[in-house]
Amino acid sequence: MAQAQPRMPVEHGAPDPMQYMHPLMKKNYGKWIYHSHPKPGVLLHRAASGDEIWTVKAGTQRQMDHYTIRKLCDIADTYADGHVRFTTRSNIEFMVAAKAKVEPLIRALQKEGFPVGGTANSVSMIAHTQGWLHCDIPGTDASGVVKSLMDELYDEFVKCEMPNRVKLSTSCCEINCGGQADIAIIVQHTKPPKINHDLVANVCERPAVVARCPVAAIRPALVNGKPSLEVDEKKCVCCGACYPPCPPMQINDPEYSKIAIWVGGKNSNARIRPTFHKLVASGLPNNPPRWPEVAEVVKKILATYKADGRPWERMSDWIERIGWPAFFRKTELPFTKYHIDDWRGSRYTLNTSAHIRF
Ligand code: SF4
Ligand code: SF4
Repeated sequence: MAQAQPRMPVEHGAPDPMQYMHPLMKKNYGKWIYHSHPKPGVLLHRAASGDEIWTVKAGTQRQMDHYTIRKLCDIADTYADGHVRFTTRSNIEFMVAAKAKVEPLIRALQKEGFPVGGTANSVSMIAHTQGWLHCDIPGTDASGVVKSLMDELYDEFVKCEMPNRVKLSTSCCEINCGGQADIAIIVQHTKPPKINHDLVANVCERPAVVARCPVAAIRPALVNGKPSLEVDEKKCVCCGACYPPCPPMQINDPEYSKIAIWVGGKNSNARIRPTFHKLVASGLPNNPPRWPEVAEVVKKILATYKADGRPWERMSDWIERIGWPAFFRKTELPFTKYHIDDWRGSRYTLNTSAHIRF
């Protein structure tokens, strides 16, 4: 009798990108000598061999049904060379090997309602976290905020009129897996979690929840004779970290979960070292489906930066030059005691540069 073979694990890593690459990109891999930016949404790369590849970037609504994806693939088959790629900001990029193919491709995308832009000193598509569709703890729908805001910022996506590139991000909880940006839109809980004591013993691993709290505000407790938890509300910073391991500690609230805006974050080492973003607006209503209050503040900051920033100044460079008092004066955002950053813990230890040190 044949011996049963052990079932081997299947290793899923990132797939080999070479198999999906445009043939010209494969041929010239690692041999590109320069690139230029002929117009908004279009990049030209030239290889040492003389080959050229033209990239056309278009914005999408991020969460797409398969009809939309098929439409984009049909455009790729008809007007491009059948190759596409998605960027981290959910833009789609088409690569073509001839200049003559660029304009018909742009017209086909615009006819179907996809804006072409997002390159160089434009407002690029907003990077965002998963929202209601995928994650288990969101207080808002990050991709909904992105769609409504990009509808408002359409002109800044298709034109290149900002002093430098502007990166935006949105995060749907305070844990903020979305990271920082020139302007970051982040949920802000303003009340400690409410505990449903009837469910804690059945649903939560209490030591894990106690360990999760960054300010040690959670203690095990007996409530109505049942093992449960209690929160020291004076210590609680309303971060929401206890909600994922213990859903009976509900922190999302239609009234008290708000939205905050942070500015001046930068991840690259270009020109100046990376910078942390800072809070400039808080307590904005979490107001689906169009989040108009958030859009108003973001547009106000962008308009001020556009008018006042010097060429090549990123948002953080601009604020560094004019100073925070001038930032609040020019944007007419109210300055409160909550804007004062008094945390000194990282002054000597946190490496904010991407350079390797030994
Ligand atoms: S920001 Fe928070 S809720 Fe949103 S996807 Fe990330 S961890 Fe989940
Ligand atoms: S919300 Fe954050 S700070 Fe407050 S109890 Fe939960 S984990 Fe602790």
